[in-house]
Amino acid sequence: MTKKIFAINAGSSSLKFQLLAMPEEIIIAKGIFEKIGETDAIFKLKSENLDKKEILAIPNHKFAVEKLLSELLENQIIQSMDEIDGVGHRVAHGGEIFKDSVVIDQKVEAYISDLSELAPSHNPVNLVGVRAFQNALPEVGNVAVFDTAYHQTLSPEYYLYPLPMKYYEQYKIRKYGFHGTSHKFIASEVERILGEAGKDVTHLKIVSCHLGNGASICAIKDGKSLNTSMGFTPLAGLMMGSRSGDIDPMILPFLLKKEQLDATDLSHLLNQESGLLAVSGISNDLRDVEAASLKGDERASLAIQLFVNRISQTIAGYISDLGGIDVLVFTAGIGENSATIREKVVERLACFGLVIDPEANDNGEQFIHSLLSKTMIAVLPTNEEIMIARDTMRLLK
Ligand code: ADP
Repeated sequence: MTKKIFAINAGSSSLKFQLLAMPEEIIIAKGIFEKIGETDAIFKLKSENLDKKEILAIPNHKFAVEKLLSELLENQIIQSMDEIDGVGHRVAHGGEIFKDSVVIDQKVEAYISDLSELAPSHNPVNLVGVRAFQNALPEVGNVAVFDTAYHQTLSPEYYLYPLPMKYYEQYKIRKYGFHGTSHKFIASEVERILGEAGKDVTHLKIVSCHLGNGASICAIKDGKSLNTSMGFTPLAGLMMGSRSGDIDPMILPFLLKKEQLDATDLSHLLNQESGLLAVSGISNDLRDVEAASLKGDERASLAIQLFVNRISQTIAGYISDLGGIDVLVFTAGIGENSATIREKVVERLACFGLVIDPEANDNGEQFIHSLLSKTMIAVLPTNEEIMIARDTMRLLK
């Protein structure tokens, strides 16, 4: 029987939602609240017969959820609140406690709240979203789907930092990895697509490149995360839109002294003022940087080259970790849309036998490797909402 499940992503001033029919995985409605807390907040709602946008005062997330439910009723997208069977929430940090998604009860809520120390700008607002739904739909079960859970299969050799062990023991400083829901979805898509093509999918070595504003790569062996590029926080690993990714850590104490910066300044510098934005001097949005590069802007071209180098170096490392590679996947805003980045990255992996088919790449085909390539190369749209809905279905059964 069809169930109706919400997939929710609550940010500090936003709430993204999809209502899905499961197990068919069909979107019934989707939309977003933006600028929550302000008098000119934005509400967008789309369904088969509706595409509306409203500017209104939305004081808080609780109000947003009530507005959402009454809009669904008013527009006859649902006939009654009883039709909602479950709510899945994206939660940023599950620490070492949560190795899978989980039904939210008071104990789970307390754990998520305790983990706020590791994700201060995410876990508390994720809980605000949970409470808003608990309040509006008290009879309906809520499930937490963690960005970190998929990477809990990493072994100590990949998750430990070479720092005094007491910091791991006292503060749980280790690599957690993020974008887990996306990488897990990509692994399941690769298995599905190759399985349908009659290929053996029991022992696949996949490298999944989630390249969006935030970007991470995951080495996947037998469906499990073996290694991933984000770390203790989502700043680590690749260079990103406005995040530095890995840098020599001694730069921080150096800047601390030279520029009299404090911890908050450094965090802002690394998260908001670095990456593509800093090197190009133009934008954190790759579209702007690519456009400038095409017009001959040298710093824009340099930014692209730095970005590409980090990606191809990380993939190369993961080919070593995996002991080979069967499928390389590009996903998320940049991975799905930038043929240039894909081409430049694969070009640098020629020594591993990866060869792109330029025409397939430019035409946005699902598989973009040439017949000469030793490895399959795919472009697959990610879908974190479907994963959230799948886990919510599975756990609320
Ligand atoms: P987020 O991490 O915010 O979810 P997305 O996955 O939406 O990010 O990706 C955003 C990035 O994708 C931006 O850098 C944007 O420039 C890039 N992008 C989107 N469309 C294109 C395109 N057609 N060509 C190049 N880059 C694109």
